[in-house]
Amino acid sequence: MRVALLPGDGIGPEITASAVRVLAELAPDLELDEHPFGAAAIRATGTPLPDETLAACRAADAVLKGPIGDPEFDAADVRPEQGLLRLRSELGVYANLRPSRAGGIDLLIVRELVGGLYYGARGVREDGTAFDTCEYHPSQIERIARRAFELARTRGGKLTSVDKANVLETSRLWRRVVREVAADYPDVDVEDMLVDNAAMQIADAPQQFDVIVTENMFGDILSDLAAAVTGGLGLAPSASLSDNGPGLFEPVHGSAPDIAGNGSANPAAMLRSTALLLEHACGRADEAAAVERAVDRALAEAPTPDLGGTATTAEFTAAALRALTVEGA
Ligand code: NAD
Repeated sequence: MRVALLPGDGIGPEITASAVRVLAELAPDLELDEHPFGAAAIRATGTPLPDETLAACRAADAVLKGPIGDPEFDAADVRPEQGLLRLRSELGVYANLRPSRAGGIDLLIVRELVGGLYYGARGVREDGTAFDTCEYHPSQIERIARRAFELARTRGGKLTSVDKANVLETSRLWRRVVREVAADYPDVDVEDMLVDNAAMQIADAPQQFDVIVTENMFGDILSDLAAAVTGGLGLAPSASLSDNGPGLFEPVHGSAPDIAGNGSANPAAMLRSTALLLEHACGRADEAAAVERAVDRALAEAPTPDLGGTATTAEFTAAALRALTVEGA
């Protein structure tokens, strides 16, 4: 299997190096090819997603991506984030899986990733008014709902569909389509929840949730909240899946320019994203579980400064590798 590796910006290359070491230990048969993406690619080629990188991602079995973004380009016309939106759209990875786990919490947010407000018509009118539009076709809702029901079936059998149906037309359509799809999954308990209530419930009583399915922007915000109540952004992984093509696996956090280059980044989210890659792209659930356990061990033995510890990225990685070696012995 071939994995396109996009180390990205800021702490991206540091945490990607950690993932490469873990894959070399656990799955040396995977072929890893590195490609420029994000601010690094803008500097090298003038564009955040060079054609060569896109072609390599399309041809790969999976894409493992570090965070992108650089303050230098925050107000520029060509920005690293444009490359990310385009990559997601080109790969058709409409299902974004964001698991959060800690103590009694085991929550999976399934976020629609290539529709809604982030992809609708936008602009600035002559009078200075700016607008972004939110649109969903029923088929876009149906495919993400089906994916979420399928996942709920393999877990606790409970699905919460989050919308703002008391205000938004797109949310009323969302609710209607989810109800139609629910008829095919009588074994899954489904409930609707308004997004404002969902935010409060995730903050207050996250243990009640199993799988949450929601549209693009709500999912963006709620998944950061879920990450915050389960240990912080440094721990949160994601998988973005299409129906047939390569999936995109990346940490939820950004490029952390404030700590880039000082060797203190927490690689846990990147390693957990690597576990999702092993599970969803390679069908290697046992190895994925081994990575999860190794990360848990490293979190206990060698926490990084964001978790109140003093370990460096290299020390955390060494602890994870030790855990894998002990297990494998
Ligand atoms: P950020 O996630 O980069 O950082 C927020 C805070 O969390 C910072 O204090 C940072 O040091 C800390 N942090 C994040 N990840 C960490 C890790 N692995 N270990 C230790 N500490 C960690 O968010 P930001 O500062 O708002 O954004 C910085 C850049 O990242 C921006 O350019 C933004 O657009 C970009 N970004 C990219 C992605 C992506 O590539 N998917 C996602 C979010 C933000």
